[in-house]
Amino acid sequence: MSASNLKICSKGHQYVKKSDCPTCPICEQERKPSNGFLSLLSAPARRALEHQGITTLQQLSSYSEKEILALHGMGPASMPKLRNALQEQGLSFKQIK
Ligand SMILES: [Zn+2]
Repeated sequence: MSASNLKICSKGHQYVKKSDCPTCPICEQERKPSNGFLSLLSAPARRALEHQGITTLQQLSSYSEKEILALHGMGPASMPKLRNALQEQGLSFKQIK
């Protein structure tokens, strides 16, 4: 164990790696998508969805835009990303009438 193995990634995570591999395991894990669209979001927005049990676009599509936007941590900036991700799969937010 040597302190020289302690690295800090560009996001400020501290991690220890033996090799010179510059990959931060915390970033890796954050990036790890069960379904790609979650990786597009900021961490608070992603947590908001996960907290709601939404981990797939199919699940997301059963909510209206308004419902998603009301989740704690979700911001308006995330909505276009979600909309695009849904659209790419031929899905959309639930429409309210
Ligand atoms: Zn990192």
